[in-house]
Amino acid sequence: MNTAEQSTGAESASCDVVVIGGGPAGSTIATLLRQRGRSVTVLEKEQHPRFHIGESLLPQNLRILERLGVLDQVRAIGVPKHGAEFNSQMHSSPVTYYFENAVDKRYPYAYEVRRSEFDHLLLQNAACQGADVHQCVRVVDVDLRAGARSIVHGVDEHGNRSEWHTRFVVDASGRDTLLANKMGWKQKNPKHNSAAIFGHFDNVVRRSGRDEGNISVCWFEHGWFWMIPLRDGRMSVGAVCFPEYLRTRKTSPEEFLWQTIRACPSVNERMREATLTGEVRATGNYSYTSRRMYGDGFLLVGDANAFVDPVFSSGVYLAMSGATAAAEAVDVWLRDARAGERLLRRYQRDVRRAIRMFSWFIYRFTSPAMRSLFMAPGNVLRMEEAVTSMLAGDVYGASPIRAPLALFKVVYYVSWVLNLRRAWAVHRRRRRNARVQFVEETQAGD
Ligand SMILES: Cc1cc2nc3c(=O)[nH]c(=O)nc-3n(C[C@H](O)[C@H](O)[C@H](O)COP(=O)(O)OP(=O)(O)OC[C@H]3O[C@@H](n4cnc5c(N)ncnc54)[C@H](O)[C@@H]3O)c2cc1C
Repeated sequence: MNTAEQSTGAESASCDVVVIGGGPAGSTIATLLRQRGRSVTVLEKEQHPRFHIGESLLPQNLRILERLGVLDQVRAIGVPKHGAEFNSQMHSSPVTYYFENAVDKRYPYAYEVRRSEFDHLLLQNAACQGADVHQCVRVVDVDLRAGARSIVHGVDEHGNRSEWHTRFVVDASGRDTLLANKMGWKQKNPKHNSAAIFGHFDNVVRRSGRDEGNISVCWFEHGWFWMIPLRDGRMSVGAVCFPEYLRTRKTSPEEFLWQTIRACPSVNERMREATLTGEVRATGNYSYTSRRMYGDGFLLVGDANAFVDPVFSSGVYLAMSGATAAAEAVDVWLRDARAGERLLRRYQRDVRRAIRMFSWFIYRFTSPAMRSLFMAPGNVLRMEEAVTSMLAGDVYGASPIRAPLALFKVVYYVSWVLNLRRAWAVHRRRRRNARVQFVEETQAGD
């Protein structure tokens, strides 16, 4: 803590910025603000290392890890991921998109990581760079005071209350969406909804050679599977399904996951000898967005702002790249509120644009037309290169991929029309599921 103050009986302190949540977004913005000389307090409700889902990183993330000074540490805990493999029951063999074929050749691979280790090292790094980190402190409320210091209220695991007086509040609370809830800004995504069930397994058949660390994505009748190879032979396996399918569950989560695995031959084939390690978890109703991303003296970053379906492993990258832009905006705001406001607006615009780029593909991912296009890549007019760049996280306009992606969309719409009956049936199922509530939410790391 910085300057100690006494006020309402709760222990109290002040600083430039309070960050709520020590996940990837929170640790990133805290570290970058410390690098700019700001006093920063991070309040994290859990004790790291703790379980979290979301283990597959994108190549463009490496740029940020370098900047934070943790790339070597991540290399030590990660499995190199050179590409993303797609599997479909309607196609005889899988197709892999290798990141070395993206437009930006500087980052030809990424890493698969255990989030408990990854998040822990990011938070430790923030502390090493001078952030004042408090774990097991849950933020229970924030008094937002435009033009004055806001007050962040925390409670530790023993029930002790504390207050932080701060010039700026960063909400990086993930799916808890603390400020979006408080402001009434949170909106369920009307176009897309899905739910997931997942676990960690041993003895799952891995790909060989340099393909060993690739993520496998497998379409099946009720959605799609991920298989993410972790260190020490472990595999993260999960199914992202239409919520109406998960609501049909009559058995234990474990039995239901096995039953779902059996419904997807390409996954089942690799899991004949597999054994579950630990518990099976589920999470639902998870696509949402906040109407705004900032206000006077506060902003939302990462999942605290928006969550999109994880099919392209975009969550951690969006959280950390958003936090990078947000750090600059906050630093400028603390010096000059009007100039900072301009950067906050730009931050909001750029993050939304990046989310839109992923979302266009996500909304259509289960359609037969998208599946056919993904399973038959061809670099006609650089379309494959552009799709690979999107898969690598090149979504902020740094590479010239807009024209080939626009062309890809035209090709998609043409094949959608050519497959009209099936495409319409899937479209209707997706829209119907956008309204389905899947209430069983057992912590996906939250
Ligand atoms: C099923 C599933 C699969 C996914 N797969 C991938 C993947 O393969 N790759 C990928 O990149 N992303 C994936 N994601 C998304 C990824 O998990 C998130 O996008 C990412 O963790 C967001 O980081 P964050 O820092 O914004 O939030 P989080 O990582 O959730 O961190 C938020 C932190 O805030 C803390 N917190 C919350 N409330 C409070 C409070 N009141 N006070 C104090 N602390 C608080 C939490 O304890 C947590 O540590 C997946 C998500 C799901 C649901």
